[in-house]
Amino acid sequence: MRQWLKLRGEPTYRAQQILAGVYRSGILSFEALTNVPRSLRLALAGEFYLPEAVVEGVSAAADGTRKLLLRFGDGVAVESVIIADPPRLTLCISSQAGCGMGCRFCATARLGLRRNLRGAEIVAEVLAARRILEPEERLTNIVFMGMGEPLANYENLVEAIEVLTANWGLGFSPRRITVSTVGLLPQMERLVRETSVQLAVSLTAATDKLRSELMPVNRRFPLDALLDVCRRLPLPQRRRVTFEYVLLAGINDDLEEARRLASRLRGVRAKVNLIPFNPFPGAAYQRPTEETVRRFQQELLQCGVPTTVRRSRGLDVQAACGQLALGMHAVPEGAAQ
Ligand code: SAH
Repeated sequence: MRQWLKLRGEPTYRAQQILAGVYRSGILSFEALTNVPRSLRLALAGEFYLPEAVVEGVSAAADGTRKLLLRFGDGVAVESVIIADPPRLTLCISSQAGCGMGCRFCATARLGLRRNLRGAEIVAEVLAARRILEPEERLTNIVFMGMGEPLANYENLVEAIEVLTANWGLGFSPRRITVSTVGLLPQMERLVRETSVQLAVSLTAATDKLRSELMPVNRRFPLDALLDVCRRLPLPQRRRVTFEYVLLAGINDDLEEARRLASRLRGVRAKVNLIPFNPFPGAAYQRPTEETVRRFQQELLQCGVPTTVRRSRGLDVQAACGQLALGMHAVPEGAAQ
């Protein structure tokens, strides 16, 4: 921005005004930059594009979780979810419209991949969520756990992270941003080298046979290779990799599976986050009982693996993990899907 201003013979301090307008105030058009001269506003509008994520629907769940339906200029839609867990207020965002990874237990997979989001569109999701917050609310954390596989959209992901963490941008600490992946190895290594965001890896099975059935990506990047990379990641001190494990009743939830998981994780700086399966229409799996979840957790803890259970939030409006499929919104008639 400074360079562009310089080339036009404008003072470079304008860069700060412009970026503050875009990211701090969240202006939707350069016209709204009333502190810069009109000629410069016009020049900006001619040169740069501010993608807007239009909030087309907000579904509030009984537990306060809010699911947003967001639409971009070309008609493509994604969902984001605001999750209040005081003192945290977390925004779960999408990196792609749809998803091409094909995980059997995930509703988003059924949409297929529509397209990658651009970096600026990912940032626009955060700006859109901010517009619907209550005046006293402030986002504290961002998780890339909405639609899509963030590491399959690497360049745009990193561009978005840069804006989300920059002082001239949204100013989030990278420690408050988590990127969750099915385990695309080359990009995983790059992400840890090039950024300091938190990494979460969706594991969900402790054998290649089962994991390949549930997550086709495992045929490309099988468990041994995945866990080897995790052992070698240049993680900052005391940082651990979170492994998400979706518990599917009768499929991967018995205690033997827990022990197998613990033994595979040996030597990895790991913590496990268990996610009891969240159902969706037409799903072939079921959620295990709370007792089963608790015993699975106990077993892992006894094997020395730090393990937490993710509470399902926003289940009643299909806003929980794995449920994002552009459903349950009052979409205005005639709107392109
Ligand atoms: N594509 C990335 C980002 C999505 S994160 C990834 O897979 O990691 C969403 C998390 O929800 C993943 O850990 C995924 O395994 C999990 N998930 C998918 N479907 C689910 C379902 N039906 N119930 C519970 N968790 C689910």
